[in-house]
Amino acid sequence: MSNKRKLSFAALLDRHAQVAVHVGLRPIPGQQIILSAPIEALPLVRLICKHAYMAGASLVTPLLTDGECTLARYRHASDASFDIASAWLSDGTAAAFKEGAARIAISGDNPGLLAGQDPSRVSRAAAAAGKASKPAMEYVTTSRVNWSICAYATRSWAKTAFPELSEKAAVAKLWRAIFAASRADAPDPVAAWMEHNAVLKSRVKILNDRNFASLRFRGPGTDLLVGLADGHKWAGGSSTTPGGAQFNANVPTEEVFTTPHSRRVDGWVSSTKPLSLHGNIVEGIRVRFESGKIVEASAAKGESALLNLIKTDEGASHLGEIALVPHSSPISASGLLFFNTLFDENAACHMAVGQSYAKCMHDGVNLSKDDLIARGANQSNVHVDWMIGSGAVDVDGICPDGTVVPVMRGCEWV
Ligand code: ZN
Ligand code: ZN
Repeated sequence: MSNKRKLSFAALLDRHAQVAVHVGLRPIPGQQIILSAPIEALPLVRLICKHAYMAGASLVTPLLTDGECTLARYRHASDASFDIASAWLSDGTAAAFKEGAARIAISGDNPGLLAGQDPSRVSRAAAAAGKASKPAMEYVTTSRVNWSICAYATRSWAKTAFPELSEKAAVAKLWRAIFAASRADAPDPVAAWMEHNAVLKSRVKILNDRNFASLRFRGPGTDLLVGLADGHKWAGGSSTTPGGAQFNANVPTEEVFTTPHSRRVDGWVSSTKPLSLHGNIVEGIRVRFESGKIVEASAAKGESALLNLIKTDEGASHLGEIALVPHSSPISASGLLFFNTLFDENAACHMAVGQSYAKCMHDGVNLSKDDLIARGANQSNVHVDWMIGSGAVDVDGICPDGTVVPVMRGCEWV
């Protein structure tokens, strides 16, 4: 507390990079790292490289992206461009993961970059990218490599989150929120994270001991029964690779999450926060599930982006994740809306359509794909979270014997 005000921006950014390396990724000495980031995040990219090498990384390969280059494609490329992806790069990434490389990504892209572009082109490009990156993403969704995502306050993101402020003030406000959420402003950020991980692990233990058969969400516009996969396992806080390496996949993280049963979800659910989806902002989502599948879907804003998402492949209209986040989590308590899933998903209970996480299944990493599917774990080329929790949403757990146990009231732990 005492040193909060004395730290300069440069010192806070350096601590943020230290958290990314020593809490998020935790590279193993001699390990290669693939780092992806928007080009505007270069100051953080450089600091992460520094701390990663100091921690023993053998080689850090930064891959930078740029919104203007992405827009150039939409403005000038032939229509055929939108069905291809740089598969060679994804294949190389998968090969690097196979050799034991780690992955760190910096999130901060303009949430509304592709608003106004042809929605079918946006979803075709996303589908092509999802398909090409599937072999690499499998290392990530099964936690076979250590990986992590952290944030950088780009100008366009800050202006989307705080349109009423000047660009400078918006960026400064977003940084304050990011540094608070990454605990870069704590007296000892790494110690603060170890404590936080322990709290999340204690919630995971309670939920695993309960072994609920399903969860029921009730609130305005929501009455949803989410069956949980057979042999589901709750996760939260740090993760572990099969080789025993620990990492925190998301900085920040406030969620505990598990695998829903892809064929046992029924009812209506309404979103409680906007979703930034492939450069489009989607608001007021209402979907109805029947036997696990979305059979009706609408959105007050950005509806075509939503409809295109859920028809990407069969798994895109079924759930792959359900997550509980208390309404009083620090990110939620900030009252801010970030238009960035890394932040907004840690402010509210959420669900994700698409790919499930093998670590959220007992022995999941060793199960075959057919076994995972038989137990209800969803398979897809996409994984998109949206928020369904608020102070007006209650969650009950239903035990295998039918007993109903209150889990959250107003999205606070009971
Ligand atoms: Zn989640
Ligand atoms: Zn997710």
